[in-house]
Amino acid sequence: MTATTLSKPSFSFKDFFSSFLLVELFRGMRLTGKYFFSPTITVQFPEEKTPMSPRFRGLHALRRYDNGEERCIACKLCEAVCPAMAITIESDVRNDGTRRTTRYDIDLTKCIFCGFCEESCPVDSIVETHIFEYHGEKRGDLYFTKDMLLAVGDRYEREIAAAKEADAKYR
Ligand code: SF4
Ligand code: SF4
Repeated sequence: MTATTLSKPSFSFKDFFSSFLLVELFRGMRLTGKYFFSPTITVQFPEEKTPMSPRFRGLHALRRYDNGEERCIACKLCEAVCPAMAITIESDVRNDGTRRTTRYDIDLTKCIFCGFCEESCPVDSIVETHIFEYHGEKRGDLYFTKDMLLAVGDRYEREIAAAKEADAKYR
């Protein structure tokens, strides 16, 4: 059996006087005083908003071409690449011979907003918009179906296209 020795706590005059004279307190007050008179950087959200990158990854949307045709060709690359397995796609061939999704769902409670789906899409169909002020109040509210995603795309197409254009020169 081995004996353990306990060392005595060492006494420090510096620490003693530092505590006695409330040095830490005055240091804190000096810092508070320094920022008290400097310009405020607090943003009054939601009235004020900070600048947002064109690559911001918010609420998803499915886009259409100018003629109203949906862009998605049901290649399922986004479904395959999604690390959270949040996307569910079913597809069929239309009468005109083109392949389209019959189901395109995203479960936003699973999504980690990595942006892989957007990066993988060959036709710029699935995108992540700048919208981040949305919520759900009951189970299923954040389960977005194809119709819901297309509706988001229809509503915000102008902003989506502008963000894509602003980012294009960096790609
Ligand atoms: S952003 Fe990422 S986690 Fe979310 S649906 Fe797309 S690929 Fe999946
Ligand atoms: S959204 Fe894009 S990647 Fe996903 S299935 Fe449609 S075309 Fe393919």
